[in-house]
Amino acid sequence: MNTVQENLAQIQEKIKASAAKTGRNYEDITLLAVTKYVTIERSEEAVNAGIVNLGENRIEGFLEKQAAIGDRAVWHFIGSLQSRKVKDVINQADYLHALDRLSLAKEIQKRAEKTIKCFVQVNVSGEETKAGVSPDETLSFIQQLEAFPAIQVAGLMTMAPHTEDEDVLRQVFRGLRQLRDKVAEAGMAHAPCTLLSMGMSNDYEIAIEEGATHIRVGSALVGPYE
Ligand SMILES: *Cc1c(COP(=O)(O)O)cnc(C)c1O
Repeated sequence: MNTVQENLAQIQEKIKASAAKTGRNYEDITLLAVTKYVTIERSEEAVNAGIVNLGENRIEGFLEKQAAIGDRAVWHFIGSLQSRKVKDVINQADYLHALDRLSLAKEIQKRAEKTIKCFVQVNVSGEETKAGVSPDETLSFIQQLEAFPAIQVAGLMTMAPHTEDEDVLRQVFRGLRQLRDKVAEAGMAHAPCTLLSMGMSNDYEIAIEEGATHIRVGSALVGPYE
């Protein structure tokens, strides 16, 4: 089993190469270690290797790792969130990556003790099994979020389909970037929408080429091992 440091070194090289290929700055890309499959110890190892941003998609895992690691990390809640669980996690998270409905926004507004930086999840690929607002509805959904002053729309997030087909992946990531540009151009005070959370272990290089600012890497970085 590789150390996180070994995996990280390889991934950083790939991030640099993908950034260079498209004339982007390496520093503009934030690597999240998704620790949902691994232990607290392995998450600690990631932080000790220099990873600052951690992502979890379940409340229990989020809270147990945060209890151990605390403010040595920036905390991203990346999973879909049931409204009744909002209170358990919302004030502990630095970023929420899966805002996908007004009922969730309403609950966040009710529970928030600070401004909550959110990524709106968009179902770019249109797969029925995927969460997220449809691309057509994204702008109007974000306009409606103005009614919830605790929410700041920091960016957009998507999950690409499970495929090796590079063209399909590229289309999805490009679609999200174009939407992000459209929302940002609307110039809404509550929605600067500069960020793009897209790309995982299998497709982060393509995501970077298409403009990702936040890549969410689990298995390739901390395991389990490919
Ligand atoms: C699990 C997960 C990831 C990381 O997936 P890997 O393929 O292991 O890199 C990224 N984003 C979300 C939302 C996830 O649930």
